[in-house]
Amino acid sequence: MKIHEHQAKQLLAARGIPVPAGQVARSVEEAAAAVRPLIEESNNPVVVLKAQIHAGGRGKGSFEEHRGLRGVNVITEGIEGGPAAAEEKVRRLSKKMLGSTLVTVQTGEEGKTVNRLYLEQGVDIATELYLAILLDRARSRNIVMASTEGGVEIEKVAEETPEKIIRAEIDPAIGLAQFQANELAHGLGLEGEVARNFQRFVKALAAAATELDADLIEINPLVVTGSGKVMALDAKMSFDDNALFRHPEIAEMRDESEEDPAEVAAKNAGLSYIKLDGKIGCMVNGAGLAMATMDIIKLYGSEPANFLDVGGGATKEKVTEAFKIITSDPKVKGILVNIFGGIMRCDVIAEGVVAAVKEVGLKVPLVVRLEGTNVERGKQILNESGLDVVNADSLLDGAEKILELTAPADGAL
Ligand code: GDP
Ligand code: MN
Repeated sequence: MKIHEHQAKQLLAARGIPVPAGQVARSVEEAAAAVRPLIEESNNPVVVLKAQIHAGGRGKGSFEEHRGLRGVNVITEGIEGGPAAAEEKVRRLSKKMLGSTLVTVQTGEEGKTVNRLYLEQGVDIATELYLAILLDRARSRNIVMASTEGGVEIEKVAEETPEKIIRAEIDPAIGLAQFQANELAHGLGLEGEVARNFQRFVKALAAAATELDADLIEINPLVVTGSGKVMALDAKMSFDDNALFRHPEIAEMRDESEEDPAEVAAKNAGLSYIKLDGKIGCMVNGAGLAMATMDIIKLYGSEPANFLDVGGGATKEKVTEAFKIITSDPKVKGILVNIFGGIMRCDVIAEGVVAAVKEVGLKVPLVVRLEGTNVERGKQILNESGLDVVNADSLLDGAEKILELTAPADGAL
């Protein structure tokens, strides 16, 4: 699960990690009202108005409705005009930003609607660095990634100048060791007080990642200020969903408006669903069988449209919800249901499939492979339903049939 920048900064600040002072706003009025206190508290006439979406690249991104308006705006009107001038500018920009669509390299061309803003104290930047703690799944450990190339896309750095990325692996029993923090500071060319500030920062960040079960904390840019402070100017965090039960305060930060609607619907129905790019929709019980089904579709040269595990105790309601989710994807050209009736009986599943098709309707071919308890009765229910359902006798048979039914006329898969 991802959270917003303002939430990430709140979690970091609570752990003693330096971030600029800021205030979240969900309306123009809230944004305007935040300006004066922020300027007076920080004794700094510059504020930054930032769109809050679950995607980066906001600084260079632009609004669909207001070409040229960026997702991150440094507001300097307060230097000469005082808080009133800054407030006026914030009001004017907030009105445009809220409710509009921000398109960045990370949102895709459809962009994301901005529903909240973050108003932040301006920072006097001397240097922009990159720092991230992320889970390295191959090593089963958190690693630190740092680079002097801050503020730009790290993927670009990794591709063009990989030598500019330095890494350290965190031993879970020890945490990030002091010598590793020293090496990272040295690798970034930091010295003296700045190096010590950085070492404290990276150790606290590594500890936060472990404590919060974050699989990514990305600070881009991490800045060194004119007076040598080290601060998180941006913060992106994502968490292991399976650990969220340990962190109710983070689970509450979920913003469903930022997530894929089909994945939200699946989660609320208790289904494990992940959208993919192919054209064969899959409905399967059990994660292992779901993986096998995806494998076989790929083996036959096509691509699955999703991973969907309806779970062991798939009820008629769950099957119906699963159908709705699969058929809501316009890329789906055919559906393969592959269910093993162990604890669940095949006749119950067949009744669920029939009820779901009757409720949701079916515009694409449907192949059903049932196996297990009461399989003959299940097949009979499907055959007698009067619906256009193709029975399959095995997983291979099912894959062949759905591939055949979804193959374009030219024979390409
Ligand atoms: P992103 O584009 O979504 O990653 O948004 P960021 O929060 O990283 O902001 C983009 C860029 O805006 C940063 O790399 C900075 O160069 C600039 N920026 C953000 N906040 C400030 C600030 O307080 N002062 C100044 N001068 N620049 C800022
Ligand atoms: Mn950034």
